[in-house]
Amino acid sequence: MLSVLRRGVVSQVRQFSTNQIAVEGFTASVGNTPLIYLKKLSQQTGCKIFGKAEFQNPGGSIKDRAAVGVVRDAEEKGLIKPGGTVVEGTAGNTGIGLAHVCRSRGYKCVIFMPNTQSQEKIDLLRMLGAEVHPVPAVPFENPQNYNHQARDYAKNLTNAIWTDQFDNTANAYAHFISTGPEIWQQTQGDIDAFICATGTGGTLAGVGKYLKAKSKGKTQIWLADPPGSVLYQYVSTGGKLAERSGSSITEGIGQGRITDNLGTFVSELSGALHIPDEKSIAMVYELLDTEGLYLGASSALNVVAAVELAQKLGKGSKVVTVLCDGAYRYQSRLFSKKWLKAKGLEDAIPEHLRKYAVL
Ligand code: PMP
Repeated sequence: MLSVLRRGVVSQVRQFSTNQIAVEGFTASVGNTPLIYLKKLSQQTGCKIFGKAEFQNPGGSIKDRAAVGVVRDAEEKGLIKPGGTVVEGTAGNTGIGLAHVCRSRGYKCVIFMPNTQSQEKIDLLRMLGAEVHPVPAVPFENPQNYNHQARDYAKNLTNAIWTDQFDNTANAYAHFISTGPEIWQQTQGDIDAFICATGTGGTLAGVGKYLKAKSKGKTQIWLADPPGSVLYQYVSTGGKLAERSGSSITEGIGQGRITDNLGTFVSELSGALHIPDEKSIAMVYELLDTEGLYLGASSALNVVAAVELAQKLGKGSKVVTVLCDGAYRYQSRLFSKKWLKAKGLEDAIPEHLRKYAVL
């Protein structure tokens, strides 16, 4: 019986193609998400556009993979013992993943997050038993930044870890051993490019390194970047780090520095695309209308970028991206007429799709 159980990220890869009839617990049910062929967009472009359904992870987002990865890594290194505390600074999804992992593995979970994040995410974290500290949204350079507060809090506890999602490379490694191999297997290696936005850089670097290695450099890896992030400029100017300015309606993506998870992989990228909020919000509605997919703004931004990249690469090209989470966590914003108006985004949504803004 045990041999048919999927037990975690590593064994998921090993047992990927087996006919599993049951999995053991939350951590083993992370991953092995479907790869969705986005039919309408593919037909419109004459290309093949795929989105990996990361919203199907048990905690609802792509960050479940990183959460399992960093906790397992800490356990394997003996950094945390049963009954210990996991502390993290997170815009939400990593925290939600960690809160699930902590409940299922017997740890206390403490989350520091910027107070600009949606109320749905804060409520959910508290419902999952996490202790949440919303703190002022100040830049990384400021010692009061949510990340530094998480690090300092963990330092003062015994049997506690700060999982450090931005610079702990167990995050990217989780994607290298799970998301990357799954995409390779699901496309049978027939993939011209992978593109996605980054927050920590774990997904882009982990998936990117795996696909590059397996394809012997043939698969191009591209960055998609929202307003308010410095990475698009960094990649397109060949390494100049500008001051961070501006903001985006997307949550969980965009970055002001080169994290250790992105690291030197940033110089291996084939290029970057900047995606304005107008295009991302329109795609949230488009994906709902044409594909029946109810997705958050980072997923929509990724799909816009995948379409633009496929068009750049030419007819027949095959491009994969990730659908990071569902819209459920953001619906009070993304589907609210008042919010859209306040953001000046009402007109960005094609008229025939505005009927979905029912709040
Ligand atoms: N989309 C969403 C909704 C996220 O929460 C995150 C992580 N903050 C990302 C995308 C980016 O993933 P990564 O941290 O692996 O770069």
